Amino acid sequence: MARVAMVFTGGTISMGFDPVAGGNVPALDGASILARTPGLETIADIVTIDRGLTPASHLTFEDVLAIGRVVQEALDDSSVSGVVVVQGTDTIEETSFAWDLVLRSAKPVIVTGAMRAPHEAGFDGPANLRDAVAAAVSPELRESGVVVTLAGTLEPADDVTKLHTSAFTSFGSPNGGTLGRVADGRVVSERARGPRRRVDPVPAAGARVHLLTAGIGTDGSLLDAAIAGGADGIVVAATGAGNTSPGWLAAAERAMAAGVAVALASRCPAGPVSVAYAFPGGGATWVRAGALRVGTLCAIKARVALALGLGAGMSHEALGAVLADPVGSESPPRASPEPLG
Ligand code: ASP
Repeated sequence: MARVAMVFTGGTISMGFDPVAGGNVPALDGASILARTPGLETIADIVTIDRGLTPASHLTFEDVLAIGRVVQEALDDSSVSGVVVVQGTDTIEETSFAWDLVLRSAKPVIVTGAMRAPHEAGFDGPANLRDAVAAAVSPELRESGVVVTLAGTLEPADDVTKLHTSAFTSFGSPNGGTLGRVADGRVVSERARGPRRRVDPVPAAGARVHLLTAGIGTDGSLLDAAIAGGADGIVVAATGAGNTSPGWLAAAERAMAAGVAVALASRCPAGPVSVAYAFPGGGATWVRAGALRVGTLCAIKARVALALGLGAGMSHEALGAVLADPVGSESPPRASPEPLG
C-alpha cells in the first residue's frame, strides 16, 4: 500500500473549546485527529509528523520554511508517495504558495484543514483528510506542485484564495479556476497545472515585506512609515489594473531610491497588473519608475514571493520573473490580458 506523510501543525481541525479562553484553541495532535478519521487505512499507510499546535495566523516565514524542510525530507524518501500538510485555513493561501515556490519534487503535496472544529456540528476535518490522502497518492497530481483541498475541490497554490470566512466551500482559484475534484475517493482532473514559479536558492528566512492597500483618499504616507520602520520590500495592492494616486507613486520612488524593492500588485482578486494607464500614478508610470510588475498573483501571494525572493538574495530581474506570470502560462480564462476597466 502507498505511504503518505502527514504533517500536523494545528488550526481549527485540531481545536477544542476552552471555557477559560472562551473559544476554540488548538488542542489535538496528529494521532488524536487521525483517531477521528475513519477510512484512511484503506487509502494509504500514514506516517504522522507533529509540528506543533499553531493557529495559522501565528505562523512566521521561519515556521513555514521549517515545515517546508520537513516536507522536503518526506518527499525525498523513496517509500513516500506524497505528503499532506494539515493546518489552519486562515493562511493556507500563503503557506501553500510558499511551499510551491521552494519544494522540489514531482510528488503531490496537498494542504488541507477544516472549517469546523471536531466538537462542532458538521466537522469537515475527516472528509478533507480522506480527500487529501487520496490526492496525495494520485498519479494525476504528479508535477502539479502544491495543491489545496477542502470541500472536495483541488486548488493550485499560486491561485487558491480563501473567499469566505466560514463557508465549507471557502476556497476557489479566481484566475484560472479549480484543477479538479476528489469524488468518491478518486481525483477527477479538470485542467493541468501550468508552469510554476521558483524561488532559488531556498531561503533560510523571509525578508520583511509589507502589503499596503491603496484606496480613495489614501496617499503614500503608510509606505513612508513602512520604510522608516525598516521594511526590506513593499507590495502595493493598487486599485484596478494597478493604479494609485500620485502620492503613492512619489513615496514608492523615495523607497526605490533608498534601495527598497517595490512591487505593484492589484487589490482585485483576479487579473494581471497592466501598463495601459499613464496618468500620474497609473500602472505605466509605476513600471517606468522601476516598480516590479506583478502578473496574476494576488497581492497576498505577491508579498510571499517578494519576501522569500529577497530572503533568497535574488536579483531585481529574478524577482521580476517570480512576480510576473511564468513564461508559457496560458492567459487566465477569466481575466482580460490588458484590462481597460
Ligand atoms: N479558522 C482557522 C482554521 O480554519 C483557524 C486557523 O487558521 O488556525 O483553521
